[in-house]
Amino acid sequence: MNPKRILVVGAGHVGLYAALRLSKKLGPREAEVVVVDPQPHMTYQPFLPEAAAGSISPRHSVVPLRRELRRCTVLVGAVTKINHAARTALVQPIVGPTREIRYDHVVIAPGSVSRTLPIPGLHERGIGFKTIGEAIYLRNHVLDRLDVAAATPDSELRRRALTFVFVGGGYAGIEALAEMEDMTRDALRYYPELNPEDMRWVLVEATQRVLPEVDRDMGAYTVQQLLGRGMDIRLGTRLESCVDGVVQLSDGDSFPADTIVWTAGVKPSPMLDSTDFPRDERRRITCRPTLEVVDGDRVVAGAWSAGDCAAVPDLTKEPGNYCSPSAQHAVRQANRMADNIVNVIRGQEPVAYQHKHAGSVASLGLYKGVAQVYGIKMRGLPAWFMHRTYHMSRIPSLNRKVRVVADWTLAFFLKREVVALGQLHDPREEFAEASQPVSAR
Ligand SMILES: Cc1cc2nc3c(=O)[nH]c(=O)nc-3n(C[C@H](O)[C@H](O)[C@H](O)COP(=O)(O)OP(=O)(O)OC[C@H]3O[C@@H](n4cnc5c(N)ncnc54)[C@H](O)[C@@H]3O)c2cc1C
Repeated sequence: MNPKRILVVGAGHVGLYAALRLSKKLGPREAEVVVVDPQPHMTYQPFLPEAAAGSISPRHSVVPLRRELRRCTVLVGAVTKINHAARTALVQPIVGPTREIRYDHVVIAPGSVSRTLPIPGLHERGIGFKTIGEAIYLRNHVLDRLDVAAATPDSELRRRALTFVFVGGGYAGIEALAEMEDMTRDALRYYPELNPEDMRWVLVEATQRVLPEVDRDMGAYTVQQLLGRGMDIRLGTRLESCVDGVVQLSDGDSFPADTIVWTAGVKPSPMLDSTDFPRDERRRITCRPTLEVVDGDRVVAGAWSAGDCAAVPDLTKEPGNYCSPSAQHAVRQANRMADNIVNVIRGQEPVAYQHKHAGSVASLGLYKGVAQVYGIKMRGLPAWFMHRTYHMSRIPSLNRKVRVVADWTLAFFLKREVVALGQLHDPREEFAEASQPVSAR
């Protein structure tokens, strides 16, 4: 038997776990697993807020692909097109010409990107919070704003530097806002020129509640927590414009801000537009509960999908409901999908994915949190502790678990790092200046 080639598009929560399981279960005579991702690492997104806040080293919230996927072929590059009818994918490696890869099975898992709206100024002034690069940038930028505010005698400039706006009150937005505020408050002890009251942290949320993943009372508790810390929480409010950093809200308020973070939802990867897979009205790939791609009633043989880019029926709810875009579903779907691919290759039937969403845990800064798991509600320290233990248990590999726990322990005894490494964003500047010919200086 010729080994089947399984192409895994994207090595995030779905791709990494699926590739790991496939390569463990299928011997080299049965299958070759090829993994393509533009990054050489998987990003454990639930740790991005803590990485931005300096509780975890950013490097430890990512998982190196080549180290974890030793039995797979890893290719750093982007899949740009898939012609499933011909079972081929085009890959743009980080260097060199586009390559065509033939496959027998494809796992489509490029995840999602920020879902934005055509708001004037957003493209120029906003930043998302989905990648490790964004988390590192935001950390350096926010700490850098403290230095700007401390250095300037201009009160308007200072107010603008210390105004931080987050748009979107899901767990990514709330955790990012709460963790960054907590870190900045910590950092202020080294800035005698600044007071905590000088900072303005604003949450703009279009609906009347935050954290839709938990019950209303837990969302209300979260709002009370943030208000108690002096944050400005605007529910039922939309960002209308941010041209030149002047934030205009739908409630009529307007103020300048140097920091505008967009965390108002996700949409499936736009790469899917260059494929021939069936999609639903939200542009997700339509799947059966077995994670096989389905076109109407017809299974698209050899095509599998899961995670943020897929519409997977949620069998624990009424028909017509789909699994939410969460790491919780992505990882479990990945394992089910890998087992189903093995089943199909070995001539057996695939099995339906079924998982009742267990709930959510969110950190609101050091020792603060909110959690609702299997109906049990927790607030404050117990919720924060649960958040840490849960995510430590979920991040792939023992290596990462040990490093993350070491980071937390060090931060407990030595306090977290609150230094900005803004030079990272333009590392050649000093050398370019120094090496300029005398005539050009
Ligand atoms: C800040 C933040 C906090 C979160 N916290 C939680 C939480 O507490 N609990 C929870 O359950 N969920 C959480 N989530 C959501 C969770 O991280 C996602 O639902 C999950 O990552 C989805 O997995 P995925 O594999 O579909 O996508 P991803 O994990 O995003 O992986 C997609 C991969 O595809 C790659 N890719 C993209 N385009 C291409 C291409 N053209 N070719 C090849 N590869 C490509 C990307 O580089 C990436 O590695 C959080 C998300 C964020 C942003």
